[in-house]
Amino acid sequence: MSPINLAIVGVGKIARDQHLPSIASNPDFRLVAAASRHGGVEGIPHYTTIEAMLEAMPSIDAVSLCMPPQFRYDAARAAISANKHVFLEKPPGATLSEVVDLETLATSKGSSLFASWHSRYAAAVEAARSFLASVEIQSVHIVWKEDVRHWHPNQEWIWQAGGLGVFDPGINALSILTHILPSAAFLRSAKLEFPENRQAPIAADLHFTDAANINIRAEFDWRQTGEQTWDIKANTSGGEMALARGGSALSIDGAAIFVSSQEEYPALYRRFADLIAKGESDVDLAPLRHVADAFLLGERIVVEPFYDRA
Ligand code: NAP
Repeated sequence: MSPINLAIVGVGKIARDQHLPSIASNPDFRLVAAASRHGGVEGIPHYTTIEAMLEAMPSIDAVSLCMPPQFRYDAARAAISANKHVFLEKPPGATLSEVVDLETLATSKGSSLFASWHSRYAAAVEAARSFLASVEIQSVHIVWKEDVRHWHPNQEWIWQAGGLGVFDPGINALSILTHILPSAAFLRSAKLEFPENRQAPIAADLHFTDAANINIRAEFDWRQTGEQTWDIKANTSGGEMALARGGSALSIDGAAIFVSSQEEYPALYRRFADLIAKGESDVDLAPLRHVADAFLLGERIVVEPFYDRA
């Protein structure tokens, strides 16, 4: 089988940090072009728009869309309309409806559409899912707190409408939660804190339950300096499960469980290759649905303005 001719669109932080090395190490893919208004990738043709790239290079089989979510739909529609397979960075779009539209189009064109959730591929996530399937869950507590100035310096889009604010990292926790819980949860109440000079929240406190009335709390905060926290804890009939460090470490009652050494983005590209080989799509909207619910149901609290420099 010859490799899949892949193009990358939106060459910025995540494209350089994760996509390029993962593509380079996967023999199922050959990176053949990049489309980005400013960025490029050395050694391959570069275009400033996806439309120009698709027109000039009909041999492209698939594209990875790595721009911010507000600008992903048009690019995805152009690619699927040209019969390409599409890898969507998380979150898959700015609205639920646009992603449903892309899924419908992909089905009609026979393209594989992959709405990726990288945190689901963290090393300990599958072990946590197996553990929770074997016990009775009493409660779940997510704490996802990080320093926005460190992780998102000068990223204006993230504070604009559709940029999701603290839900940009928080949706990673929700992507894990929706994968490891045996039953579907739904939001009961939420408080969202918006800096008075921004369109997106800097913190969120979410209370979910599920059909069995399990309490699930998620605290997201972008104002945490020092140690960063990306933890999901569950009290269960089999002890306290702690899924820590963004899904990469698991312990039960404090005892570490051996987990794989899997890295997220190489695993995402293996999944994308598999979907293309099987002619399938993978579009799970559950994490984005929870975020949309938080914006629907959440109380809005205005807090002090946020500036990139403290
Ligand atoms: P970024 O570096 O700010 O943006 C990526 C690239 O998108 C930019 O370099 C820019 O390239 C292009 N872009 C920006 N605004 C655009 C616009 N208005 N129209 C078209 N293209 C535009 O962001 P990022 O951190 O890589 O994040 C991109 C996506 O990856 C987000 O959805 C994010 O949630 C996800 N992600 C990020 C990380 C992370 O650690 N940063 C981790 C996992 C997932 P040009 O100016 O060259 O067009």
